[in-house]
Formats: sequence, structure tokens, C-alpha cells
Amino acid sequence: MTDSTIASKIDSLRSAIDTAAKSAGRDPNSVTLIAVAKTHDWAAVQQAMVANQFVFGENRVQEALSKYPKPSDRPTKMRLHLIGSLQSNKARQAAEFFDSIDSLDRESLALELVKIRDSGVKMPRLLIQVNTGAEPQKSGVLGTDADHFIATCLDQWNLPVKGLMCVPPLGQAPEPHFAMLAAIGKKFNLPQLSMGMSHDFESAIRLGATAVRVGTAIFGTRPKILELAHDQEAI
Ligand SMILES: *Cc1c(COP(=O)(O)O)cnc(C)c1O
Repeated sequence: MTDSTIASKIDSLRSAIDTAAKSAGRDPNSVTLIAVAKTHDWAAVQQAMVANQFVFGENRVQEALSKYPKPSDRPTKMRLHLIGSLQSNKARQAAEFFDSIDSLDRESLALELVKIRDSGVKMPRLLIQVNTGAEPQKSGVLGTDADHFIATCLDQWNLPVKGLMCVPPLGQAPEPHFAMLAAIGKKFNLPQLSMGMSHDFESAIRLGATAVRVGTAIFGTRPKILELAHDQEAI
């Protein structure tokens, strides 16, 4: 894929994001585009940077470590988000490498992050992932457990939780899920809502998304074999 292809896809995506924000009566600058570069290489990331895109999402720690420079060597504007499920034994590496961990989904991981923070590691920004569709195969705290988990993370563990992320079930209208996430966020006065992907970011923006996560519409389809490996790690 050429520079201009990735760059022009980013440009047209940005204008679609701007239009969706304006028609929702929102400031377009209140919506961040997270370019999801999983399975794509550093060259693709560089092509996105040509289009002034510096916020990237990855769903595997190992892949990110081998793709991006270490934090002190990155362009100052670069922000890396971990958007895939995080194994506790990789939490320290993730905390040191990412600017934001958007997939905090369980108590054992929160307790591991507390330990890591207490050992002197600067905690990245955290988002709690909510399994709004209560899908057994999907990570995230259940809607019914979200209030208690969020309150515990904030009040008892003093973790820097700034918002919520969800991935609505495939084949369902996403709007009720976005609305549910927004309602939980509002209750706790959390400023960040990461919701909306390539096919549904417009309705996510209408319902309050402050970050949309787009991969395919920027970088093209992912190789099937890698996609399978990703699915397996996510389970
Ligand atoms: C892969 C992924 C995305 C991007 O999905 P696309 O359909 O390629 O835009 C967004 N969010 C999460 C959590 C993902 O794993």
C-alpha cells in the first residue's frame, strides 16, 4: 500500500469524524482517532504519521514491543493505546510501554497494576473495558459488576481510571451498547469513552465517543492467518 493510500484514508476518515461530531453538536477536536495498526508493520505506521496520525492502537504487548521504538525514542506526539486483553504477567511491560491501557477488565489485573505502580512505575492512563453484551467469550467487566469495579479501582486502589471502552456484539445494533457505556461513564464522571470502530464510529460519536478505534478502514484488511492468532490470544 502506498503512502498516499494510507494518508488519504486517514484524511477522509478525519473528515467523516468531523462531520459526525458537528452533526451531533460536538467539537470535532473532542474525538480522537486511534489508528489500530495490529498485524501491520512499522512501515505502515510511518505512512500514517505522514498524514499527521500519531495515536495508535495495538492489541498485543509482544507485537507492540517489537514494532515501536521505546518510549524515550518515539516522536513526542506519539501515543500508544493497548486495546487488547492483557495477561497479568505482561502488565509491567505494558505499563512501561503504553501511554494508555484501555482494556482493564478484571480485579486480578487491577491488583497487579497496583503492585506495579507501588513499585515505582508511572501508571499509564487506564480505561476499563465493559462487556456490554455479556458475551462469554469477550473480555470486560459485566455491566452488572461495572459500578463496583470502577468504584473500587478509583477509591480503594487509586488507579488513574479515566474512562471506559466497549466492543459491542457482532450482528447487533451497537447503539444500546454505546448508550450503556456512556451512562456508566457519566455516573462516575469519567471523561473518556473509547467506542466505535470502522463500521459504526458515526453512531458512537453521536452517543459521546471521545475515541474511535479504526484499523481496516485505514490499513486495509488484515491477513487471515494473523487475525486467527489474534483471536486465539484474545480468548
Ligand atoms: C481490531 C480492533 C479494532 C479495529 O477494528 P477494525 O474493524 O479493523 O476497524 C478496534 N477495537 C479493538 C478492540 C480491536 O481489537
